Amino acid sequence: MTGSGDEDHRPPADAWPLLGAEGATVLDGAELLRVDLPFATPVETAVGIHRHRPVVLVHLTAHRPDGTPVEGWGECAALADTTYDAEDADDAFTWLEASLLPALLRVSGRSGALPPVGRIGGLLDGAGHRLARSAVEMAVADAHLRAAGRSLADQLGVAGMRLPAGAVLGLPESVGQLATDLGQLAAAGFARVKVKVAPGTEAVIDGAVRPLLGSGLLVQLDANGTYGDDAADRLAPLDDLGLVCIEQPLGRRDLDGHRRLAAALTTPICLDESLDAPSAVIEAVETGACSMVCVKPARLGGIGAALEVISWCEAHGVPWWIGGMFETGFARGVNRALAACPGRSFPGDLSPPSAYLAGDIVRSEPGRIDARSGHRTFPVPAGPGLGPSPDQALVESWTVRRVAVPTPSD
Ligand code: MG
Repeated sequence: MTGSGDEDHRPPADAWPLLGAEGATVLDGAELLRVDLPFATPVETAVGIHRHRPVVLVHLTAHRPDGTPVEGWGECAALADTTYDAEDADDAFTWLEASLLPALLRVSGRSGALPPVGRIGGLLDGAGHRLARSAVEMAVADAHLRAAGRSLADQLGVAGMRLPAGAVLGLPESVGQLATDLGQLAAAGFARVKVKVAPGTEAVIDGAVRPLLGSGLLVQLDANGTYGDDAADRLAPLDDLGLVCIEQPLGRRDLDGHRRLAAALTTPICLDESLDAPSAVIEAVETGACSMVCVKPARLGGIGAALEVISWCEAHGVPWWIGGMFETGFARGVNRALAACPGRSFPGDLSPPSAYLAGDIVRSEPGRIDARSGHRTFPVPAGPGLGPSPDQALVESWTVRRVAVPTPSD
């Protein structure tokens, strides 16, 4: 962590658990915030229409041995409902307040030494709530990095890099509208566009994407598990479109169905919702259920789990890319740093949050066009910390709930 330790020579996945192992960051307190950020356009899920994205934030206050105060921020990926994950924002808030943060404060004990990130996963003996635990891991890592004056990019060996981004489009309504949207995103420099697909929209996608064959624009589809037994028949007409992949056609537990579908189509199958742990990634790839991996740090169990998956994919030649979960600019910066790690990565869901949120807790840059590739690129955050500190005024303006978590001696 100090820049001179052996961990600097380890691969990022091996070095990550040691972040903070010197015990040089002293924890003073913890609080939980919930900010409700307006969606740019309402988001419809199986449960209803959401106009706000609730974000639970973990905020740690700490200090270095010389007394310099540092803070640590973590962001919980849980959404307003459980359409995509087992936790929602309310559930995550409750769990963080009642169990996880008290456990962190207890483990820090009288000395106040903030544990290294490698100990965070074991705080609750493997009980679920991956999204909430990921938020704690982020906050602890952020505090350690800030105390050391290092960025996540320094930690991962990717400082100074810029990355192309993929954009995401919702379910298409007509060939004309989808063709216009794809054209605008390509002109804006997005290297890849993901289009949501569901049974009944295949002909619209075919009509808009087929004319783009050979244009260089990477197109992939995301079904969010909406297909059933007739998936192969419905998707076969799209199999010669040169799609990057079709993401999560079937339900999250249906690995057998995905394996059969992967055998029936030439388009790679990528899994997303099914991949909720590094072990799930390995099982899905090794059984042929997918040949491409969507890496979502929070869903996998945190930054350390994401690094494990990236490292495994690199070692096994499995293409991967970083997926989005309607993050604020803070967590999206983390995703950019992870996306810069070596491997066969495709442009991920790395567009600025202004693409889907009408408010944020950090100020993001709009990206710039790379003269050589023509792609819009975005920087990995320079730090120190995981990314830029959430802007206090912005956080205040969106906060709807704030709770200080008492220390054991309180
Ligand atoms: Mg997806």
